[in-house]
Amino acid sequence: MDQIAFAPPADDPALSELRREVRAFLAETIGSHRPGQRIRSWMGNDAAFSRACGAAGYLGMTFPARYGGHGRTAMERYVVSEEMLAAGAPVGLHWIADRQSGPLLLQYGTEAQRQEILPKVAAGECYFCIGMSEPDSGSDLAAARTRAEPVEGGFVINGTKVWTTNAHLAHYMILFCKTEAASDDRHGGASQLLIDLATPGITISPIHNMAGAHEFNEVSFRDVHVPAGALIGTRGGGWAQVMGELAFERSGPERFLSTFAVLTELIHAAAADPSREAKVAIGRLTAHLVTLRRMSRSVAGLLQAGENPSLQATIVKDLGAVFEQDLPEIARLLVPRGGRGDGQGQGDYQAVLDYAVLHAPSFSLRGGTREILRGIIARGLGLR
Ligand SMILES: Cc1cc2nc3c(=O)[nH]c(=O)nc-3n(C[C@H](O)[C@H](O)[C@H](O)COP(=O)(O)OP(=O)(O)OC[C@H]3O[C@@H](n4cnc5c(N)ncnc54)[C@H](O)[C@@H]3O)c2cc1C
Repeated sequence: MDQIAFAPPADDPALSELRREVRAFLAETIGSHRPGQRIRSWMGNDAAFSRACGAAGYLGMTFPARYGGHGRTAMERYVVSEEMLAAGAPVGLHWIADRQSGPLLLQYGTEAQRQEILPKVAAGECYFCIGMSEPDSGSDLAAARTRAEPVEGGFVINGTKVWTTNAHLAHYMILFCKTEAASDDRHGGASQLLIDLATPGITISPIHNMAGAHEFNEVSFRDVHVPAGALIGTRGGGWAQVMGELAFERSGPERFLSTFAVLTELIHAAAADPSREAKVAIGRLTAHLVTLRRMSRSVAGLLQAGENPSLQATIVKDLGAVFEQDLPEIARLLVPRGGRGDGQGQGDYQAVLDYAVLHAPSFSLRGGTREILRGIIARGLGLR
């Protein structure tokens, strides 16, 4: 069972100071936000807030200074992410760029790509989207059919990506596609390309989710020419790279804090006259939250130590999705309607609950479905 140890990261007093600093920043920038805004969590968008995060040094934290970054540790970045999410800060525009696309370019990008893109990511002025899923390949990413045909001086891309979060707001996509001839190796022949979404031939069409919101899109490529310099890393080596990218995507505190505002509003709503059931449920939810946080911080500590905690990250993502999906349902049953017991903020509880109930079903799909994650965990434990 060694492979699922969740060792706590070493204590670092400097992190508490950073935490205080971020809280002061958040009080100043979004102190007036109502819970109904905060529940949008990492789907909330605000370009001015993204720029303010960049100016404060909270983006590209782990990038070297020569790329506009701040040379800080993964644990420092974790503390900032956790505070942003707990406060329900509108981090959506820069989230993907800062979390995974920037780090991917830092690891595999060309020097020209790094110099061009990373300073803009660190400034909070450059947004990314993820081009993995397709109409006929979601869980089975290896079945992707979008093809970038190598031609003189670059590639010509044809295909369709789907469920692409924020493609309509992003400047770039990291595209996962086939560049090589088909072979017996299902994971071979794929590459990753840096796509400027303003390139002719790209069409971005909205898909409205069940809450009626436009968050994701279909993105089609019709004879899209991109230069050879768009290639990220090794031609044909895209599978290993995309797996590394998914580890960044799955390991953060956003995988259990999406509905955190429901817990805080539930506590306010139940506070005046808590039933026995409410006390038990809130106690249990808090215990789950504290345990998840401990596990998630452990993953951040392992990443910082240069280890590969992808199994632990998968476990946190799966348990985290269960937690953030259960929360609105438990709250709805305990306090079906209501506001704060102190008479302040009437409507806040209802606003967070309405949003969370409509969005929660997607939590166990995005970033890998529950069944797929459990398959990975089973394989990691040697059970399949
Ligand atoms: C809110 C949201 C945002 C998203 N954003 C993005 C994005 O920005 N970029 C992007 O590329 N994608 C994005 N996705 C897509 C997401 O990654 C896919 O929905 C997910 O990978 C599942 O793929 P699918 O929808 O094609 O379902 P399928 O793969 O068709 O799966 C359907 C069902 O079958 C199950 N299943 C499939 N294969 C197996 C198996 N081998 N064993 C057991 N069960 C299996 C699945 O668990 C699922 O329940 C987003 C999705 C959501 C909900």
